[in-house]
Amino acid sequence: MLLNGKVALITGAASGIGKDIALVYARAGAAVAIADINLDAAQKTADEINATGARAIGVAMDVTSEEAVNAGTRSVIDAFGRLDILISNAGIQIVNPLVDYSFADWKKMLAIHLDGAFLTTKAALPHMYKDDQGGTVIYMGSVHSHEASPLKSAYVTAKHGLLGLARVLAKEGAAHNVRSYVICPGFVRTPLVDKQIPEQARALGISEDEVIKKVMLGQTVDGVFTTVDDVAQTALFLASFPTAALTGQSFIVSHGWYMQ
Ligand code: NAD
Repeated sequence: MLLNGKVALITGAASGIGKDIALVYARAGAAVAIADINLDAAQKTADEINATGARAIGVAMDVTSEEAVNAGTRSVIDAFGRLDILISNAGIQIVNPLVDYSFADWKKMLAIHLDGAFLTTKAALPHMYKDDQGGTVIYMGSVHSHEASPLKSAYVTAKHGLLGLARVLAKEGAAHNVRSYVICPGFVRTPLVDKQIPEQARALGISEDEVIKKVMLGQTVDGVFTTVDDVAQTALFLASFPTAALTGQSFIVSHGWYMQ
Protein backbone atom coordinates (compact mmCIF):
# COMPACT_ATOMS: atom_id res chain seq x y z
CA MET A 1 0.00 0.00 0.00
CA LEU A 2 2.61 2.50 -1.17
CA LEU A 3 0.07 5.31 -1.64
CA ASN A 4 -2.00 4.90 1.52
CA GLY A 5 -3.70 8.19 2.46
CA LYS A 6 -2.71 9.90 -0.81
CA VAL A 7 -5.13 11.56 -3.22
CA ALA A 8 -4.42 11.46 -6.97
CA LEU A 9 -6.06 13.42 -9.78
CA ILE A 10 -5.52 11.73 -13.15
CA THR A 11 -6.63 13.39 -16.38
CA GLY A 12 -7.72 11.30 -19.36
CA ALA A 13 -8.26 8.46 -16.90
CA ALA A 14 -11.43 7.08 -18.47
CA SER A 15 -9.35 5.09 -20.99
CA GLY A 16 -5.99 3.56 -21.81
CA ILE A 17 -2.90 4.53 -19.83
CA GLY A 18 -4.66 6.94 -17.44
CA LYS A 19 -7.26 4.32 -16.53
CA ASP A 20 -4.62 1.71 -15.71
CA ILE A 21 -2.69 4.20 -13.55
CA ALA A 22 -5.95 4.87 -11.68
CA LEU A 23 -6.51 1.13 -11.08
CA VAL A 24 -2.91 0.59 -9.94
CA TYR A 25 -2.96 3.67 -7.68
CA ALA A 26 -6.27 2.60 -6.13
CA ARG A 27 -4.82 -0.84 -5.40
CA ALA A 28 -1.84 0.91 -3.77
CA GLY A 29 -4.19 2.70 -1.36
CA ALA A 30 -4.75 6.08 -3.05
CA ALA A 31 -8.11 7.79 -3.45
CA VAL A 32 -8.33 8.62 -7.15
CA ALA A 33 -10.17 11.25 -9.18
CA ILE A 34 -10.87 10.05 -12.72
CA ALA A 35 -10.92 13.33 -14.65
CA ASP A 36 -11.98 13.14 -18.29
CA ILE A 37 -13.86 15.01 -20.98
CA ASN A 38 -16.00 11.85 -21.21
CA LEU A 39 -17.79 11.93 -17.84
CA ASP A 40 -19.83 8.76 -18.44
CA ALA A 41 -16.70 6.70 -19.06
CA ALA A 42 -14.93 8.39 -16.13
CA GLN A 43 -17.82 7.53 -13.82
CA LYS A 44 -17.73 3.92 -15.05
CA THR A 45 -14.05 3.63 -14.13
CA ALA A 46 -14.74 5.23 -10.75
CA ASP A 47 -17.59 2.74 -10.14
CA GLU A 48 -15.24 -0.13 -11.04
CA ILE A 49 -12.73 1.10 -8.43
CA ASN A 50 -15.35 1.78 -5.76
CA ALA A 51 -16.64 -1.79 -6.21
CA THR A 52 -13.24 -3.07 -5.03
CA GLY A 53 -13.56 -1.12 -1.79
CA ALA A 54 -11.10 1.62 -2.83
CA ARG A 55 -12.19 5.26 -3.21
CA ALA A 56 -12.71 7.00 -6.57
CA ILE A 57 -14.82 9.75 -8.13
CA GLY A 58 -15.51 10.64 -11.75
CA VAL A 59 -14.81 14.28 -12.60
CA ALA A 60 -15.94 16.12 -15.75
CA MET A 61 -12.91 18.00 -17.05
CA ASP A 62 -11.93 19.38 -20.44
CA VAL A 63 -8.27 20.12 -19.75
CA THR A 64 -8.22 22.96 -22.30
CA SER A 65 -10.72 24.97 -20.25
CA GLU A 66 -9.37 26.91 -17.26
CA GLU A 67 -12.86 27.06 -15.76
CA ALA A 68 -13.40 23.30 -16.11
CA VAL A 69 -9.94 22.47 -14.71
CA ASN A 70 -10.41 24.76 -11.70
CA ALA A 71 -13.95 23.46 -11.01
CA GLY A 72 -12.84 19.82 -11.38
CA THR A 73 -9.86 20.31 -9.07
CA ARG A 74 -12.09 22.00 -6.51
CA SER A 75 -14.45 19.00 -6.60
CA VAL A 76 -11.52 16.68 -5.80
CA ILE A 77 -10.64 18.79 -2.75
CA ASP A 78 -14.32 18.82 -1.72
CA ALA A 79 -14.50 15.02 -2.00
CA PHE A 80 -11.14 13.99 -0.53
CA GLY A 81 -9.84 17.08 1.34
CA ARG A 82 -6.34 17.15 -0.21
CA LEU A 83 -4.36 16.59 -3.40
CA ASP A 84 -0.99 14.81 -3.41
CA ILE A 85 -0.49 13.55 -6.96
CA LEU A 86 -1.39 15.03 -10.34
CA ILE A 87 -1.02 12.91 -13.46
CA SER A 88 -1.43 15.17 -16.50
CA ASN A 89 -2.20 12.45 -19.03
CA ALA A 90 -5.13 13.47 -21.26
CA GLY A 91 -4.10 13.47 -24.88
CA ILE A 92 -5.06 12.83 -28.48
CA GLN A 93 -3.19 12.24 -31.71
CA ILE A 94 -3.67 13.87 -35.12
CA VAL A 95 -1.28 12.70 -37.85
CA ASN A 96 -0.64 14.55 -41.11
CA PRO A 97 2.39 15.76 -43.04
CA LEU A 98 3.43 19.33 -42.13
CA VAL A 99 2.32 20.76 -45.48
CA ASP A 100 -1.20 19.45 -44.89
CA TYR A 101 -1.39 20.03 -41.11
CA SER A 102 -4.24 22.47 -40.46
CA PHE A 103 -3.62 25.37 -38.09
CA ALA A 104 -6.83 24.41 -36.27
CA ASP A 105 -5.49 20.88 -35.61
CA TRP A 106 -2.11 22.31 -34.51
CA LYS A 107 -3.82 24.59 -31.98
CA LYS A 108 -6.08 21.78 -30.75
CA MET A 109 -3.08 19.50 -30.14
CA LEU A 110 -1.10 22.15 -28.27
CA ALA A 111 -4.19 23.11 -26.25
CA ILE A 112 -4.83 19.57 -24.99
CA HIS A 113 -1.21 18.59 -24.37
CA LEU A 114 0.39 21.86 -23.24
CA ASP A 115 -2.42 24.14 -22.05
CA GLY A 116 -3.86 21.09 -20.27
CA ALA A 117 -0.56 20.39 -18.50
CA PHE A 118 -0.17 24.04 -17.50
CA LEU A 119 -3.76 24.53 -16.31
CA THR A 120 -3.90 21.34 -14.24
CA THR A 121 -0.51 22.10 -12.69
CA LYS A 122 -1.56 25.64 -11.82
CA ALA A 123 -4.79 24.39 -10.23
CA ALA A 124 -3.04 21.62 -8.25
CA LEU A 125 -0.03 23.51 -6.89
CA PRO A 126 -1.75 25.68 -4.24
CA HIS A 127 -2.96 22.47 -2.55
CA MET A 128 0.54 20.95 -2.64
CA TYR A 129 2.30 24.17 -1.60
CA LYS A 130 -0.04 24.58 1.40
CA ASP A 131 2.12 24.15 4.53
CA ASP A 132 4.81 22.74 2.17
CA GLN A 133 3.01 19.40 2.32
CA GLY A 134 4.40 18.68 -1.16
CA GLY A 135 3.32 16.39 -3.92
CA THR A 136 4.12 14.68 -7.19
CA VAL A 137 3.28 15.92 -10.68
CA ILE A 138 3.73 13.45 -13.53
CA TYR A 139 3.35 14.54 -17.14
CA MET A 140 2.59 11.89 -19.75
CA GLY A 141 5.22 12.55 -22.36
CA SER A 142 6.24 10.04 -25.00
CA VAL A 143 9.30 8.71 -26.76
CA HIS A 144 8.27 11.68 -28.92
CA SER A 145 9.43 13.95 -26.06
CA HIS A 146 12.94 12.97 -27.25
CA GLU A 147 12.59 11.65 -30.79
CA ALA A 148 10.73 12.75 -33.91
CA SER A 149 8.58 10.82 -36.37
CA PRO A 150 7.08 11.96 -39.65
CA LEU A 151 3.44 13.12 -39.61
CA LYS A 152 3.52 14.11 -35.91
CA SER A 153 4.67 17.75 -35.87
CA ALA A 154 2.23 19.00 -33.26
CA TYR A 155 2.51 15.90 -31.04
CA VAL A 156 6.33 15.90 -31.08
CA THR A 157 6.41 19.64 -30.39
CA ALA A 158 3.96 19.36 -27.49
CA LYS A 159 5.65 16.31 -25.97
CA HIS A 160 9.07 18.02 -26.13
CA GLY A 161 7.47 21.04 -24.42
CA LEU A 162 6.46 18.97 -21.41
CA LEU A 163 10.13 18.36 -20.59
CA GLY A 164 10.59 22.11 -20.15
CA LEU A 165 7.52 22.49 -17.96
CA ALA A 166 8.59 19.58 -15.73
CA ARG A 167 12.09 21.03 -15.32
CA VAL A 168 10.77 24.46 -14.30
CA LEU A 169 8.37 22.85 -11.83
CA ALA A 170 11.21 20.75 -10.37
CA LYS A 171 13.07 23.99 -9.57
CA GLU A 172 10.08 26.07 -8.42
CA GLY A 173 8.40 23.27 -6.49
CA ALA A 174 11.43 21.99 -4.59
CA ALA A 175 11.07 24.50 -1.76
CA HIS A 176 7.54 23.16 -1.20
CA ASN A 177 8.46 19.46 -1.52
CA VAL A 178 6.81 19.18 -4.95
CA ARG A 179 8.53 16.88 -7.46
CA SER A 180 7.90 16.57 -11.16
CA TYR A 181 8.54 13.86 -13.73
CA VAL A 182 7.81 13.03 -17.35
CA ILE A 183 7.03 9.44 -18.31
CA CYS A 184 7.84 8.74 -21.96
CA PRO A 185 6.13 5.57 -23.23
CA GLY A 186 6.76 3.88 -26.54
CA PHE A 187 3.73 2.64 -28.48
CA VAL A 188 1.01 1.33 -26.15
CA ARG A 189 -1.99 -0.48 -27.64
CA THR A 190 -4.77 1.93 -26.60
CA PRO A 191 -7.58 3.54 -28.63
CA LEU A 192 -5.15 6.42 -29.39
CA VAL A 193 -2.76 4.03 -31.16
CA ASP A 194 -5.41 1.79 -32.73
CA LYS A 195 -6.78 4.85 -34.54
CA GLN A 196 -3.32 5.70 -35.93
CA ILE A 197 -2.61 2.32 -37.53
CA PRO A 198 -4.91 2.71 -40.58
CA GLU A 199 -4.16 6.46 -40.75
CA GLN A 200 -0.40 5.88 -40.90
CA ALA A 201 -0.83 3.03 -43.40
CA ARG A 202 -2.72 5.40 -45.72
CA ALA A 203 -0.32 8.34 -45.23
CA LEU A 204 2.85 6.22 -45.66
CA GLY A 205 1.47 3.96 -48.42
CA ILE A 206 2.21 0.71 -46.50
CA SER A 207 0.06 -2.05 -44.97
CA GLU A 208 -1.30 -1.90 -41.41
CA ASP A 209 0.89 -4.89 -40.52
CA GLU A 210 3.95 -2.98 -41.73
CA VAL A 211 2.93 0.04 -39.64
CA ILE A 212 2.90 -2.18 -36.54
CA LYS A 213 6.04 -4.21 -37.29
CA LYS A 214 8.23 -1.51 -38.84
CA VAL A 215 7.00 1.91 -37.71
CA MET A 216 5.77 1.10 -34.22
CA LEU A 217 7.84 -1.86 -33.03
CA GLY A 218 10.75 -1.98 -35.51
CA GLN A 219 13.21 -0.37 -33.13
CA THR A 220 12.19 -2.13 -29.91
CA VAL A 221 14.52 -4.84 -28.58
CA ASP A 222 11.75 -7.45 -28.38
CA GLY A 223 9.09 -6.46 -30.94
CA VAL A 224 6.63 -6.00 -28.11
CA PHE A 225 4.24 -3.12 -27.45
CA THR A 226 4.79 -1.19 -24.22
CA THR A 227 1.87 -2.09 -21.94
CA VAL A 228 -0.38 0.14 -19.86
CA ASP A 229 0.99 -1.71 -16.84
CA ASP A 230 4.63 -0.94 -17.81
CA VAL A 231 3.62 2.72 -17.62
CA ALA A 232 1.44 2.45 -14.50
CA GLN A 233 4.18 0.65 -12.53
CA THR A 234 6.60 3.45 -13.46
CA ALA A 235 4.04 6.01 -12.27
CA LEU A 236 3.68 4.10 -8.99
CA PHE A 237 7.46 3.96 -8.49
CA LEU A 238 7.82 7.70 -9.10
CA ALA A 239 4.91 8.75 -6.87
CA SER A 240 6.28 6.67 -4.00
CA PHE A 241 9.96 7.57 -4.43
CA PRO A 242 11.09 8.99 -1.08
CA THR A 243 13.44 11.85 -2.02
CA ALA A 244 13.89 14.60 -4.62
CA ALA A 245 16.79 12.75 -6.28
CA LEU A 246 14.86 12.08 -9.49
CA THR A 247 12.90 15.33 -9.80
CA GLY A 248 12.84 17.05 -13.17
CA GLN A 249 13.78 13.89 -15.07
CA SER A 250 12.05 12.01 -17.83
CA PHE A 251 11.75 8.22 -17.86
CA ILE A 252 11.57 6.36 -21.16
CA VAL A 253 9.42 3.22 -21.02
CA SER A 254 9.72 1.80 -24.53
CA HIS A 255 11.16 -1.75 -24.65
CA GLY A 256 14.43 -0.31 -25.88
CA TRP A 257 12.98 1.68 -28.79
CA TYR A 258 14.72 4.83 -27.63
CA MET A 259 17.70 4.88 -25.25
CA GLN A 260 19.20 8.01 -23.74
P1 NAD B 1 -6.68 7.04 -24.88
O1 NAD B 1 -7.28 7.58 -26.13
O2 NAD B 1 -6.89 5.61 -24.52
O3 NAD B 1 -7.11 7.93 -23.63
C1 NAD B 1 -7.07 9.32 -23.66
C2 NAD B 1 -8.15 9.87 -22.74
O4 NAD B 1 -8.03 11.30 -22.76
C3 NAD B 1 -9.57 9.52 -23.19
O5 NAD B 1 -10.31 9.00 -22.09
C4 NAD B 1 -10.13 10.87 -23.63
O6 NAD B 1 -11.55 10.99 -23.40
C5 NAD B 1 -9.34 11.84 -22.78
N1 NAD B 1 -9.31 13.19 -23.33
C6 NAD B 1 -9.13 13.58 -24.62
N2 NAD B 1 -9.20 14.91 -24.73
C7 NAD B 1 -9.43 15.39 -23.48
C8 NAD B 1 -9.60 16.69 -22.94
N3 NAD B 1 -9.56 17.78 -23.71
N4 NAD B 1 -9.79 16.81 -21.60
C9 NAD B 1 -9.83 15.71 -20.80
N5 NAD B 1 -9.70 14.46 -21.26
C10 NAD B 1 -9.49 14.31 -22.58
O7 NAD B 1 -5.12 7.39 -25.03
P2 NAD B 1 -3.81 6.83 -24.27
O8 NAD B 1 -3.03 6.08 -25.29
O9 NAD B 1 -4.14 6.22 -22.98
O10 NAD B 1 -3.03 8.21 -24.06
C11 NAD B 1 -2.88 8.83 -22.78
C12 NAD B 1 -1.64 9.71 -22.85
O11 NAD B 1 -0.50 8.88 -23.11
C13 NAD B 1 -1.65 10.78 -23.93
O12 NAD B 1 -1.09 11.97 -23.43
C14 NAD B 1 -0.76 10.20 -25.01
O13 NAD B 1 -0.16 11.18 -25.80
C15 NAD B 1 0.26 9.47 -24.15
N6 NAD B 1 1.00 8.43 -24.85
C16 NAD B 1 0.35 7.38 -25.43
C17 NAD B 1 1.09 6.43 -26.10
C18 NAD B 1 0.44 5.26 -26.76
O14 NAD B 1 1.13 4.57 -27.53
N7 NAD B 1 -0.81 4.96 -26.51
C19 NAD B 1 2.48 6.54 -26.18
C20 NAD B 1 3.11 7.61 -25.57
C21 NAD B 1 2.35 8.56 -24.91
